[in-house]
Amino acid sequence: MSDLTLQGIGMTSQRTRDRLVARLQQQGISNEAVLDVIGATPRHIFVDEALAHKAYEDTALPIGFNQTISQPYIVAKMTEELLASGPLEKVLEVGTGSGYQTAVLSLLVERVYSVERIKPLQQKASTRFKQLGLRNITLQHTDGGMGLTSHAPYDGIIVTAAPDAVPAELYAQLAIGGVMIIPVGGEQQELLRITRIDESRYDEVRIETVKFVPLLSGTIS
Ligand code: SAH
Repeated sequence: MSDLTLQGIGMTSQRTRDRLVARLQQQGISNEAVLDVIGATPRHIFVDEALAHKAYEDTALPIGFNQTISQPYIVAKMTEELLASGPLEKVLEVGTGSGYQTAVLSLLVERVYSVERIKPLQQKASTRFKQLGLRNITLQHTDGGMGLTSHAPYDGIIVTAAPDAVPAELYAQLAIGGVMIIPVGGEQQELLRITRIDESRYDEVRIETVKFVPLLSGTIS
């Protein structure tokens, strides 16, 4: 990828990103650090070139394999909710997809572990992180419904595909005091913010209604 593509030209310019940030503020996103990172992250490199001109519209876009890159508002909202109770060191993301949410997170926390069940999506995301010089991301090709035991527990867990119910493994891999942001339900879902209070108690708050692709089991190579 050329420097010009990374810097962004025309519809992919800084001015276009600034307009996106202004829209997110109007929609109620107020965490300055989150807004700054979204303003600085070139979303157009996370979609196919043919869709790059739509990258700064506030919509989800197809990334192949029947999957989508999440809408910028949702990325901002989930990140803001995840960080609401203070800085985080170790975060698990389930559903790397394009890697856009991963990239945003990586600039706000110490280390991101991100799992994806579709290998070609993971490979593309990995290339993008190298282009952007993001070095605090660890990717794994696995079914994230099981979480990722090798690095648990996590201060934060963010799930970008929707299960019918919160998997027991994810509850178990959340550190005490940790926060999980997860959409739960069928066609439409409730976005939940779950905080682990102690060994056996969790506090659960409903954020809003959302629409994610389903969390599926197994892997695709
Ligand atoms: N945050 C991503 C969202 C991609 S869509 C982005 O903005 O690009 C959700 C992703 O979750 C898809 O890539 C899908 O393949 C992945 N996914 C679904 N079920 C999964 C599972 N059990 N384990 C890991 N990834 C999963």
